[in-house]
Amino acid sequence: MSQQFEHVALIGLGLIASSISHAMRRADMNTRITGYARSSTTRGKARKLGLCDKVYDSLADTVRGADLVVLAVPVGAMGAIAKEIAPFLKEGAVVTDVGSVKRAVIDAVGPSLPKSVHFVPGHPIAGTERSGPDAGFASLFDNRWCLLTPEAGTDKKAITKLRKFWEALGANVDEMEPDHHDLVLMVTSHAPHLIAYTMVGVADDLKRVTDTEVINYSAAGFRDFTRIAASDPTMWRDVFLNNKEASLEILGRFTEELFALQRAIRIGDGDFLFDYFTRTRAVRRSIIEAGQDTDEANFGRGATDTDK
Ligand code: NAP
Repeated sequence: MSQQFEHVALIGLGLIASSISHAMRRADMNTRITGYARSSTTRGKARKLGLCDKVYDSLADTVRGADLVVLAVPVGAMGAIAKEIAPFLKEGAVVTDVGSVKRAVIDAVGPSLPKSVHFVPGHPIAGTERSGPDAGFASLFDNRWCLLTPEAGTDKKAITKLRKFWEALGANVDEMEPDHHDLVLMVTSHAPHLIAYTMVGVADDLKRVTDTEVINYSAAGFRDFTRIAASDPTMWRDVFLNNKEASLEILGRFTEELFALQRAIRIGDGDFLFDYFTRTRAVRRSIIEAGQDTDEANFGRGATDTDK
């Protein structure tokens, strides 16, 4: 197996795939890029942006001859696509995905792929609330983690080659067991999204009572929630439907904690609230120390450079 991919096929040309393309170009990879999108609007935008050497409306044409195939569509769409591309995959190709959930993708994609290809599932922990081909940018993966979740027995050379690919795009790469990934990401990303969706929903109901006050006097906490709650509805619907067990586990725990805080407020237990908020403050400090955020205003982020 050669050291670098010579032909990368991007299936789905949204935020993540377009960022991969920009980061590949920035890394000066001498790699052919083919891309597939289902809608002519997305294909048109991708062509205009020059994201790929060739954009196709056919999955077969996109993957033919590729030595890396990246599935970058919503989690719920991956199984059907895997089935469709299977007969056209090159022998020895690496197939990966960027889905935010790993077990459901492995179960949906794995069985459809021929034995002659290497399936190495992945998840770049990087994104924004924006979507589509024009949302991508080259630095999206810089210093962000990309987690690979291969099943035991997967070809080591294929894993190493994919690891090097992500490192060239700016990411730090680690391996994780898929079910563990799904639980960890539920805590760090998925449940916070659901909470943001809920809080914005509550405010939206309230808005009917207070007119435009919720919008006009929107403070930083709520504004951050609205940014998160503006994330793509299809993507997030699929994340929760495909990570059901971890969703219910973490939301159960969240509800218990919320009730404990509610009770402390009701009975005036200031010590409980103070100790709780002191403990959570320390969590933020450890994220900054791990180099995954800064202490600057707006968390050091630009308007579009945010994590998922
Ligand atoms: P996106 O910007 O919304 O792009 C999704 C792409 O998938 C579009 O090209 C869309 O095509 C295509 N697509 C949607 N449904 C499809 C279907 N049923 N069949 C075929 N193609 C379909 O999404 P994204 O943010 O790049 O997310 C892609 C994947 O990355 C998801 O699995 C997501 O979980 C994962 N991910 C996202 C983030 C994030 O923050 N956004 C972070 C890490 C991982 P059209 O434009 O033609 O409709």
